[in-house]
Amino acid sequence: MDLKDLYQEIILDHGKNPRNLGKFENFNKDAKGHNPLCGDKVHVYLKVDENKKISDIKFEGHGCAISMASASIMTELMKDKDQKEVNELIEDFLKMIKDNPELKSNLISDDDKTKLMSLSGVKKYPMRVKCATLPWHTLISAMTNKPGEVNTERED
Ligand code: ZN
Repeated sequence: MDLKDLYQEIILDHGKNPRNLGKFENFNKDAKGHNPLCGDKVHVYLKVDENKKISDIKFEGHGCAISMASASIMTELMKDKDQKEVNELIEDFLKMIKDNPELKSNLISDDDKTKLMSLSGVKKYPMRVKCATLPWHTLISAMTNKPGEVNTERED
């Protein structure tokens, strides 16, 4: 199987059966995001503990396979990461999806990097980039308690 097929398979798998889908009772941070160009909507719920570590993360939402796969993979990777690690991973992902050929962070395993890199194919399609980055901008919003809904038309 070549890399392109593997990436396709990962996106289909996570897009059809998103991990961490739903809501949990005792979340203490959350944010909503909307990508009007595609119709993707996500609501990210976090439980951040006293050490600023994400002890639980889930999301609700609906949208295209790219947005759902991105939210699914993101929530898998962010669990048990602290604020500094979360910021590093977000920055690394957003840079990769725009310019960088690869992920630079050493915080995640090669398997997890492969999962994230499966989304790299959207680079060529600016509209799809917004599908892939929506959950990540929404996570930033939740972590920083930004009021209001994330709207990809107001992000760059
Ligand atoms: Zn989409």
